[in-house]
Amino acid sequence: MPESPGYSGDPLNLNWLMPAEERINSTLYRIPAGSYHKGIRFFIWRKMDQKELTKSDALYIRDILAKSLDMQSLNLTEVSALLEVSDRYLWSEIFDAARSVKEKVYGKRIVLFAPLYLSNECMNDCLYCGFRKGNTDAKRKTLTVNEALEEAALLAGRGYKRLLLVSSEHPKRAGIDYFEKITDAIYKKTDIRILHVNSAPMSVDDFKRLKASGVGVYQCFQETYHMPTYRFMHPTGSKSDYAWRLGVMDRAIEAGFEDVGMGVLLGLYDWRWDVAALIAHCRRLINKYGFGPHTLSVPRLQPAQGSKADNLRYRVSDDDLKKIVAIYRLALPYVGVVVSTREPSGLRDELFSSGASQVSAGSKTSPWGYMKDGDTEQFEIGDSRSLEEVIGKIASLGLMPSLCTACYREGRSGERFKNLAEETTIKNFCHENALLSLKEYVEDCASGEVKKELTKILNEEIAKSRNGLAEKFKLIEAGKRDMHV
Ligand code: SAM
Ligand code: SF4
Repeated sequence: MPESPGYSGDPLNLNWLMPAEERINSTLYRIPAGSYHKGIRFFIWRKMDQKELTKSDALYIRDILAKSLDMQSLNLTEVSALLEVSDRYLWSEIFDAARSVKEKVYGKRIVLFAPLYLSNECMNDCLYCGFRKGNTDAKRKTLTVNEALEEAALLAGRGYKRLLLVSSEHPKRAGIDYFEKITDAIYKKTDIRILHVNSAPMSVDDFKRLKASGVGVYQCFQETYHMPTYRFMHPTGSKSDYAWRLGVMDRAIEAGFEDVGMGVLLGLYDWRWDVAALIAHCRRLINKYGFGPHTLSVPRLQPAQGSKADNLRYRVSDDDLKKIVAIYRLALPYVGVVVSTREPSGLRDELFSSGASQVSAGSKTSPWGYMKDGDTEQFEIGDSRSLEEVIGKIASLGLMPSLCTACYREGRSGERFKNLAEETTIKNFCHENALLSLKEYVEDCASGEVKKELTKILNEEIAKSRNGLAEKFKLIEAGKRDMHV
């Protein structure tokens, strides 16, 4: 069993129970916001809806955008104001501001990675997930260490340098001992340079071991902060413990993870309320630790085999998803925004230009999926383009694809990374590292038109560079690898 979620006495621990409007009909109505109930502090936030804005509201929105452009995080009142905008002209200003903030912080680079699914054997029954225990049609598999190695080597051969290890929750088959063996083998025996993990929440002791195994980012999504929906969607297993999940980032940070990834599963509940709650959670981490999440993901509910979450009441449209990416970008300017292959290619291409800074590509969502299709996948993929195709597309949009992994290995993490990003210095590292990583990609993997296009871009960059880029490229041509700043 995981250790007990000990929140007592921590004044900064907040619990998003439900929107203010719903409390009125609830037995929890008597609990005042800010007070403790069963060791958990309650935070209540009103629901938001779109509304017609007056002229002075529009001026207020422009002030908020100016604040983001000045690299300042937004408070909850400002986030709510953005969430309430309905005017499409104002939205186009918001999108422009989000694009500018992204470029100010990260430049044009977009980092690419792939997920590596280790196991689909799960003790939980999340109603929306193909891996849930109650999906009796699922074909179950947990990769052996050798199988994980084979898949990682295959992906390294395609040019990936960073992988996200993803696992269902099975303490016996996919516990910390298993993760340690997998990371050790992949680091020692493949060219993969950084592994991130999206797994079930762990205890502080297990997180310490995960960190010591060389994992860069620990990622976990709260799914929804709305407790009644959370309880409904997660009826059994350890994931049914809302508080244990809510405290996961505190435990990961306490164990030494300075880079954590957060998100909500968009479509479970009213996205405006969940987005505000997630930003509130991030702000609490920043207040407490000096840094918040390294990345925010925008997973949107997809069809899955055996899913029981077919209630489309809270469906998130493509337009809403674009707004969410823009709001995360503006609310926390330094944070990376991750867009996965859950989304269709056309929409992803738009998001590449409007605020995303990390994207997966060429993904499979079942264990052994890169070797053989067939075992149960977690959900359906929307963008099935290969890494090379996505790299080509990003370049054709005038952006800079990147396979860089430098920051995690150079100690640019947590507060240090946040400061570099807010000073808008990080993009200088990002740009050069993107070029060095692309040069390796051109030498080792690229082919056809994409190779030609990337070579042209790299040659143009040599002409602009004052950092001895031509010499560095020559070293890469001569076989030197993993050059970075
Ligand atoms: N099992 C761990 C957990 O639940 O936290 C970690 C891995 S889980 C495979 C990763 C994420 O996939 C979940 O946090 C959830 O947000 C997302 N997910 C699950 N089912 C999904 C679906 N049908 N569509 C989109 N995302 C889904
Ligand atoms: Fe298991 Fe995670 Fe799927 Fe829930 S979301 S059923 S915990 S794999």
